[in-house]
Amino acid sequence: MSHRGKEFVGILSQTEADLRRLAGIPDQYRVLFLQGGASLQFAMVPLNLSAQGDTVDYVHTGSWSQKAIEEAKKYCQVHLAASTAEEKFCRVPEQEELSFSANPSYVHITGNNTIFGSEFHYIPDTGGVPLVCDASSNILSRPMEIGRFGLLYAGAQKNIGPAGLTLVIIHESLLGKARPHVPTMLDYKPHADNDSCYNTPPCFSIYVAGLVFQHLLEGGGLSAIAEANRKKARLLYARIDSSDFYISPVQPGSRSLMNVPFTLQNPQLDAAFLQGAEQAGLVGLKGHRSVGGMRASIYNALPIQGVEALVAYMSEFERSHA
Ligand SMILES: *Cc1c(COP(=O)(O)O)cnc(C)c1O
Repeated sequence: MSHRGKEFVGILSQTEADLRRLAGIPDQYRVLFLQGGASLQFAMVPLNLSAQGDTVDYVHTGSWSQKAIEEAKKYCQVHLAASTAEEKFCRVPEQEELSFSANPSYVHITGNNTIFGSEFHYIPDTGGVPLVCDASSNILSRPMEIGRFGLLYAGAQKNIGPAGLTLVIIHESLLGKARPHVPTMLDYKPHADNDSCYNTPPCFSIYVAGLVFQHLLEGGGLSAIAEANRKKARLLYARIDSSDFYISPVQPGSRSLMNVPFTLQNPQLDAAFLQGAEQAGLVGLKGHRSVGGMRASIYNALPIQGVEALVAYMSEFERSHA
């Protein structure tokens, strides 16, 4: 099947139309189906939205924002509008704590901090400066007001579909501003001008993402999946908070609905906890190697039964080890 044949062109346009309906994407925004992961966006954003010598503002809330900042520093002056590093990223900053530079080209946030388990539950007011959001790990988990952002990007592999696809939603006024000499493939404009077919797009990942969009639409859209996600998260946080045996390192107001890290009061039990969990069919619970402990990633695709099984296991483990 050619990516320029009518079958795939039909799949691509249906996928975009379904995503627009699902996420409520306004007409002034373009949807780009790219490759290179969120990590390539760490470079594409500064290369497209800033000129040499410009200052750009970043909110530093965890490992992914750190990577985004390091990449941007290759191309611009980076000003930290806020950082919660000194508090071990146990929360995201509040609006009043954000201190912007005089004239930034854009402000960058990481909407959900996948590794530390914190999430922005408000959209920062930047006073008209384009707001860029790495939404890799919470896109489509709940309704988002796209119109408040200049650009959102997300690797597909967490909440959208197979790896290999990167979604970019960009306000059309931000197209055509790439630096001179930027490689064509790293300029948003040719991708927008060619409806994501400047070169061969990740066809199969787009096809599967399209099935996911249809599935979400049939299930009642983003408000329905948001309700399901809130229910899952409430259940798990309630279990963690109900005794001192388990500890959530994240402040309640910043807790992620997608990634729930927790530790055992006695970390010597970590290995036994993980081993027993695996025997109970609960896999992938080891915390990221940079933070340790446990982390339950409860993305859209995880049904509530998965969280119920985890909570039951946690209670049983506490009874037998407390
Ligand atoms: C997973 C993740 C990334 C990295 O995504 P790649 O597609 O692997 O480059 C970046 N940011 C956040 C918030 C993530 O969760």
